[in-house]
Formats: sequence, structure tokens, C-alpha cells
Amino acid sequence: MTSTQSTAPQFDAIVIGAGVNGLYTLYRLRELGLSVRTLEAGAGVGGTWYWNRYPGARLDSESYSYGYFFSEEIQQEWSWSEEFAGQPELERYFNFVADRLQLRPDIELNTRVASAHYDAETASWTLRTTDGRTFTARFVVFATGILSRPLFPEITGLDEFSGAYHHTALWPHEPVELAGKRVAVIGTGASGVQLIPSIADQVEHLTVFQRTPNWCAPSNNFHFSAERVADLKSRWREIRDTCRETPGGFIHSPRDESALDVSADERQALYEKLWNATGLALSHSNFRDLLTNREANDTVSSFIAEKIRTRVHNPDVADQLIPKDHGFAMKRPPLETNYYEAYNRDNVELISLDKEPIVRATEQGLETTRRNLDFDVIILATGFHAGTGPMLKVDITGEDGAALQDYWADGPRTLLGVLVVGFPNMFIVSGPQGGTAGNIPRFGELQANWIVECVRHMKERGYQKIEATPEAEEAWVEHAIGTVEKTLLSQANSWYFGSNVPGKKRAFQLYAGSQSTYRSRLDEAGREYQDFKFTSE
Ligand code: NAP
Repeated sequence: MTSTQSTAPQFDAIVIGAGVNGLYTLYRLRELGLSVRTLEAGAGVGGTWYWNRYPGARLDSESYSYGYFFSEEIQQEWSWSEEFAGQPELERYFNFVADRLQLRPDIELNTRVASAHYDAETASWTLRTTDGRTFTARFVVFATGILSRPLFPEITGLDEFSGAYHHTALWPHEPVELAGKRVAVIGTGASGVQLIPSIADQVEHLTVFQRTPNWCAPSNNFHFSAERVADLKSRWREIRDTCRETPGGFIHSPRDESALDVSADERQALYEKLWNATGLALSHSNFRDLLTNREANDTVSSFIAEKIRTRVHNPDVADQLIPKDHGFAMKRPPLETNYYEAYNRDNVELISLDKEPIVRATEQGLETTRRNLDFDVIILATGFHAGTGPMLKVDITGEDGAALQDYWADGPRTLLGVLVVGFPNMFIVSGPQGGTAGNIPRFGELQANWIVECVRHMKERGYQKIEATPEAEEAWVEHAIGTVEKTLLSQANSWYFGSNVPGKKRAFQLYAGSQSTYRSRLDEAGREYQDFKFTSE
């Protein structure tokens, strides 16, 4: 690679992405006295909550466990209206935060980064945007998330379809008219499960194409009273401390006992209680061996199967909605509100793709192996090229021009999820191998704090360049893979392993260790920085 500049870089740091973790990273780096610019592809801030504006999009962690904990002012000035805030409220929240922290002057919207090249001569990064602009910085921080690159199904002829088709993660800003329309939804992951009941009573007819059923848990969402808002505000430190201690950074934590240590009646009573609790309680406040012992897992999976059979009137449809290939929570369980009841409606049809595959799209709709179906709108709730996907969409080259695409060909390789060997001065928040199986802002906060302290360390000593050592990275990769190997997660095909992307090599994309382990590893690495090589000019 040739040197791209002879003068000092324009910025100390560039953060890519103005989502939940990008905004926080910008704030913290700026606090350090650095010149920082955030480049954001969207026309607004909020990341996930800017893009995923499909009907029904909402949180699956309790609102008050998802917001920022670092600021008393933000905690007191912002009032959540529901246990699980919907997309419009979250988008408002991130706009409020951007204003409250005066972040906007440092955010360049409508700016998609196409390439990022490390320049060894100047120990800095040159970024080019899709509209031809160039930015240079000493440090680059990828805050591009793990679920920001939509995955489109390979359906022949989709562009010839005369109606509209939309991916849930690229939902238009203008209202999409669905009332009285014939609508197809492809995909029954968390996005599809939220969308389907939200539109079922508006559309004339809804056809759901399901490749694999998912185990869903009721969200039991509810609107807040003024008393609850006041109570949450008064207890925010206690909530923060709880979220710091739980393995996943949620308000939920697992029980000490095994599902097999208690009687069938006791198990049933607990499952009923968790079924009626909020959010991820059923997966995260369950018996400790839910995800390590298949026999234990079977007990809760059977419980949910019975619930599905009770809620879905047609036994054949109920059976199609019950997963056979994996147990509960072996994939991230969608949270639902009236999802199963949607299939009791006369205007909703479920098509299992194993029995009736889609052959192609036509001008009028979709052709399956059995029939031609006419639609006005096709909705693709087909998920994401997750984990490594968002960063690999950018042409990233490091030391000696080596491409990240090649380095990650067999799966992610990072040190602590924050640095990559061969890519000096490139930090990651909320990317692969960095705690993203948990509550994303909670783990992102840990990473951003670590990065800021590392940059402070460099600044104080006049270091220009940081590199991760290969031995330390290798040890982290082994550790990160080890966090999942003994769990039942590794027995399912999910986006956690890239299984949803045709041709993607199966590799664990996340970090499944506990928050306390992750925090102590970060703390340890930041104490003496023995796993890193620093260079001064
Ligand atoms: P997803 O879980 O990957 O689900 C995508 C769905 O599309 C699956 O049913 C998948 O089937 C199907 N699909 C993919 N490609 C297909 C194809 N070519 N033909 C037919 N069907 C196809 O994606 P998601 O629902 O967008 O959720 C992804 C993650 O985002 C979630 O696990 C969660 O972490 C996060 N999320 C969270 C919320 C929330 O509640 N806050 C909401 C949405 C998303 P297979 O299962 O067979 O692959």
C-alpha cells in the first residue's frame, strides 16, 4: 500500500457508526480531549433503531436495562414508556442523547465507509466513503455492530415483482401501506415474530413462509404508570448494579440448581412463573443447565411446545410451529406478543418451506412448487450477515496491505473482541468475539471504556501505534470458542455460527462467556498491557 498522506492525520480518531455503542465511544473519546469524527451511513443516529423501523420492532431487553448508565442526567431526564420500548421511542432516545451530549457537530450522517486502509508510514488510517470523500485518523473504531448487514434471500426474479418488497432492516421511512393488501413475510426469526402479529389484523391476507420454526417466549410487555417511571428512576443505580453482575448484562440471572434436581411439579411451577414474567426471563432466569444439558433443556422445550399447542387452534399448524431441530434458547429466542394467535386468524396462512419451497418470484408474487401466489407486498424478515458481516462489507486492509476479508476467512480472530493482529490502531466495539451474546450496550460500554483507557495510556506515553500480539490473540480466540463449545448453542444452526449465510464457514461469531469473566479479562489486559506492542514515532 502506498502512503496516503505526509501530514498529520485529520482526526485523532474516527468512529464508524452512530448506534448505541458508537455514540458512547464518541462521547468518551472526545472527553479525553481527542478530535473525533463519527461517520454514519444513515441519515440519523440510533443504528439498529434507525434502520429497523418495521412494524412491531421493539427491544427484547427491558428498556431501563438497555439505556446508558454512565449519566445520572440522562437517567433522570429520560422516561421510558414501556417495559420493552418500540423502535420510534428508541430512535427518540438516541436523538435525545445525541443532543444532550452535544454529539451532533462531530457526526457526519449519510456517510458510508467503503474502505479503510492502514498506512504503515504514518501509523494512521485512511477511510474512503462511497461518495468519494476521504478521512484520515490515527485510530479507527468500528462500531458497526453485529446485526447491521441485512441478508437477502436468493430468490430468482425478485426484481421483476411488480409490487413492493422490503427487508425489515431497511424498512422505508415513508409509511408502507399494508392495510387491505396481500402480504408475504419470509422469515420467522425475532424480526418476523415481532412483525407478523403487528400487521396480521391490517392486511387483507398474510402468507408466512417459514424455513425453520423458532422457540419464542412471551415478552409480557406493558405500559408504564407514572409511579413505575418514578420508581425506576429512583432505583437506577440498583438496576445498573444488577446488570453489572448478571452473566449477560440483562436484569435476569440463572438459578443455581439443575432442572433435573427438582420434581416435575416444581419445574412446571417455575416454567409457568417464567412464562408469565417479562422478556428474557424464560431463557435467562431458568435452571443453570438449560444450555448445557439436553435432558434439562428438553423439559422446558416440552413445556413451550404444550403452550404452542394450546394457543394455536389448528393442530397441524401448531405442529409446524414447534421446532424439531433444536431446543429452547439454543438460538436467540424471539420474544412475542400474540404471535401464535396470529395463526388462528382466517386471513393468515403458514407455509413451511420444506414442504413447499419458493421456486421464483413472478411479476405478481411468488411461485412455489405447488402454486402461484399473488402479493402486493413481500417482506423479507431474513436476518443478517451477522458477526463479521458488517466489518467485512468494508474493504479493510492492515499492515502490509493484508485484507481483513482474508484474515477472517475462517471466522473472526480478535484479541478481547477489541483488536486484531495485523490491523494496528483499529479498535472494535460490539463486534465479533466481544460479548455480543449478551445485552449489547452493557458489553459495548466495557469495550469502549477499555479502548478509551488504552488510548489515554498511549497518549500519556507518546505512543503512536498499538498492535495485539499473535500469542495473546490466539489465546483469546481459543477462549472465545471455548465459551460456546460445551454449550448446546453449538448444536444448533444459527446466525451465531454464520449458518444462515450461504457459503459462510461455520464459526462462532460471538463471545458466550459471562460478563464478569469478560470484564476481568479486559481489566487484566489493561493493567500492564503485556499483550500489546506499542510504538512511538
Ligand atoms: P434471524 O433470526 O436470522 O431470522 C431470519 C429468518 O429468515 C429465519 O427464520 C431464517 O430461517 C429465515 N431465512 C433466512 N434466509 C432465508 C431464505 N433464503 N429463505 C427462507 N427463509 C430464510 O434474523 P432476525 O429475525 O432479523 O433476528 C436476528 C437477530 O437480531 C435476533 O436473533 C436478535 O438477536 C436480533 N433482533 C432482536 C430483536 C428484538 O427483539 N430486540 C428484534 C429483531 C432482531 P432459518 O432459521 O432457517 O435460517
